[in-house]
Amino acid sequence: MVYSLTPFARLWCSLHGDDTLKSALITGITGQDGSYLAEFLVSKGYRVYGMVRRSSSANLSRVHHLHDRIELVFGDLLDQNSLVGLIESVGPDEVYNLAAQSFIPTSWSQPVLTGDFTGLGVARMLEAIRTVDPGVRFYQASTSEMFGKVNAPPQNESTPLNPCTPYGAAKAYGHFLTVNYRETYGMYACSGILFNHESPRRALEFVTRKITHAVARIKHGLQDKLKLGSMDARRDWGFAGDYVRAMWAMLQQEEPEEFVVATGESHSVAEFVERAFSHAGLAWEDHVEIDDQLIRRTELELLVGDASKAREKLGWEPAVDFEGLVDLMVDADLEVVEAETSGAGSPHSS
Ligand code: NAP
Repeated sequence: MVYSLTPFARLWCSLHGDDTLKSALITGITGQDGSYLAEFLVSKGYRVYGMVRRSSSANLSRVHHLHDRIELVFGDLLDQNSLVGLIESVGPDEVYNLAAQSFIPTSWSQPVLTGDFTGLGVARMLEAIRTVDPGVRFYQASTSEMFGKVNAPPQNESTPLNPCTPYGAAKAYGHFLTVNYRETYGMYACSGILFNHESPRRALEFVTRKITHAVARIKHGLQDKLKLGSMDARRDWGFAGDYVRAMWAMLQQEEPEEFVVATGESHSVAEFVERAFSHAGLAWEDHVEIDDQLIRRTELELLVGDASKAREKLGWEPAVDFEGLVDLMVDADLEVVEAETSGAGSPHSS
């Protein structure tokens, strides 16, 4: 059943400070962040609706453990009517737009589709909210990739955007549109400019998860080599479970604003590799090979975030540091591979 919160009910709740009746619509709930955000909002007493697109086979492994606490509703960022229908039927207080084509190499091979999902998808959702209920609070998942080629670290909310990938460019479009709708229509629309954040639920094509999953397979004797592009590439990596708290906090402010969310620390792929292998009791030199074919066209060496504003205004602090993140990802992948090899099936994502 789909519940809807009428404008009267929303007013009643806000007058009585009653958060338990709040409802949120999350696009991209089947992704890494969507699953952590759903857990977090459920723990806050929200009614959580997750938008999923039609697929010939179920893709719900990251939210399977929440099946009796969230409601899945069909929609697609490529389809305007489906978004309008969802805003009407769900009547959310808050919309978190996390859906996107988020893998940079795919944005080079499919730049048009990436623009459609990741850029125009934001326009479709903003239009749906504006026409059905402009009082809905809107969060847009912006990214540090919008900074692109920067002159110097760190980057904050005032750093000019200079994207250098189709993904970054599409995200910059969505980012500016979110600002435009706020300024032009007075909507509560804001973007979180999030630096890289990882977890055991990260897709396998991303370098962090590729490493930790390979470490687990090597430990279990299922493979011997791990091929990587540049080991020198550097990133500001945080834990996804920490970052979704900042998304929610942004929608609880009196005024909508942009916030950078980051750890402020830069680590290389080499550091990640060293920590991951040693955590599993392995020597990375015995297993890692450099493959020039995997080197990215544009490497962004200087991306490091300054999250002072989020720390001050949102009271946000990350709970997991770099070493803790690598360790928890390795431990989770060791468990996953162990379960696969023993025939027990995948344990629930942690
Ligand atoms: P993710 O794991 O790749 O998840 C992407 C989600 O988008 C999936 O649920 C996917 O659904 C959904 N989706 C894609 N196209 C769609 C469409 N046309 N209609 C409806 N749903 C669609 O991404 P993530 O890591 O959770 O990131 C969440 C958001 O934050 C993304 O917008 C990403 O660009 C942004 N972001 C991420 C990071 C990071 O480091 N993780 C940093 C900054 C910003 P399916 O399961 O059906 O494919």
